[in-house]
Amino acid sequence: MFKTLLIKYGEIAIKGKNRHLFEDALVHQIIHALKKVEGEFHVYKMQGRIYVDCLSAYDFEETVGALKCVFGIVGICPVMKVEERGLEALGDDVIEFLQNVYDIDSQTFKVVTRRARKSYPIESMEVNCELGGRILEAFPGMRVDVHEPEIMLHVEIREKIYIYSKIIPGPGGMPVGTNGKAMLLLSGGIDSPVAGYMICKRGVKLDATYFHAPPYTSERAKQKVVDLARQVAKYSGPINLHIVNFTDIQLYIYDKCPHDELTIIMRRYMMKIAEHFAKEAGDLALITGESIGQVASQTVQSLAATNEVCTMPVFRPLIGFDKQEIVDVAEKIDTYETSILPYEDCCTIFVAKHPVTKPNLNAIKRSEQKLSEKIDDLVRTAIETTEKICIE
Ligand code: ATP
Ligand code: MG
Repeated sequence: MFKTLLIKYGEIAIKGKNRHLFEDALVHQIIHALKKVEGEFHVYKMQGRIYVDCLSAYDFEETVGALKCVFGIVGICPVMKVEERGLEALGDDVIEFLQNVYDIDSQTFKVVTRRARKSYPIESMEVNCELGGRILEAFPGMRVDVHEPEIMLHVEIREKIYIYSKIIPGPGGMPVGTNGKAMLLLSGGIDSPVAGYMICKRGVKLDATYFHAPPYTSERAKQKVVDLARQVAKYSGPINLHIVNFTDIQLYIYDKCPHDELTIIMRRYMMKIAEHFAKEAGDLALITGESIGQVASQTVQSLAATNEVCTMPVFRPLIGFDKQEIVDVAEKIDTYETSILPYEDCCTIFVAKHPVTKPNLNAIKRSEQKLSEKIDDLVRTAIETTEKICIE
């Protein structure tokens, strides 16, 4: 059983003077992710590397599973950590490593030594040859293949020596918290959880707002959104979810405005209210799951009309994605099965048979004037009665 995991990180290693901030954020996120895993872990950085020492018995799959949700990690390498005791002893260690990890018979291999500590007296190439020779002696069925080896045996010489051969891919991206915070408009659909995941992958912490329309939308529809938020939170860390009761606003719009403009007007109010909570929470942008042309409310004209009410930037990471591409990500991050549960959504209930696909902004604004009597009060009430829950 491996007692140490070496964490590889890519992009964040090139952040110049801010590098330590990124590393510290990554260490912090790893510690957070491992809190949910049984076992005692020590996470620390040393010489441009992050290590997880496993101090007690632990479940390997569960631990790696948790690390696979930490943005910023490019690879997870189970390593054998040994003291430097000379080349002879290192050969013994390497042989022990191979015996423990593989059913050795006739694999091909290559030794790749990295001498990060330059005071180590022997050149990398020489170490490769020496260790290669020892392996061939110990396992007569094995052969060297420098181009496409089945086993790439890495030996990193630092204060201690690290031996590993497997690099389990991490999710990539940047550590959450290194790029500010944004407000996700989270519905129960397939798209918005994926949109949240994608922005979060770039290091942005998430808040979320869901527009609920009881009794037209059920408790189960709300529960579905909570479940989706929980799934996204595996990657993003805790999400403050705002659940807005949107019913009275929707009914009022339904009552006063042309039905073919309902969706656009409704979506404009959603953006306004989400932006209110975003400002309150110190978020710098909004995030939606919109994609050009997906539905009437997502034509370029509709997106422009919706966007017009926002003062913050609106991130739409799925804007150029086809549905299948979105579904592929949803399946990868395990939100798909929840997203397709058949509970009604507040948008689908009030949707017109023939919504405008090329809304005219002036016409929309004229229609919205018909709301002037009560809409401010209704928005205020919706904001005041919003339920806030922290999703872990
Ligand atoms: P799908 O197309 O799979 O239903 P969706 O719900 O994301 O996904 P739309 O209903 O067209 O698609 O909405 C577009 C975007 O608007 C969503 O991605 C989401 O960001 C936001 N949105 C829609 N409905 C709500 C809602 N009830 N609460 C919060 N945000 C919403
Ligand atoms: Mg939807």
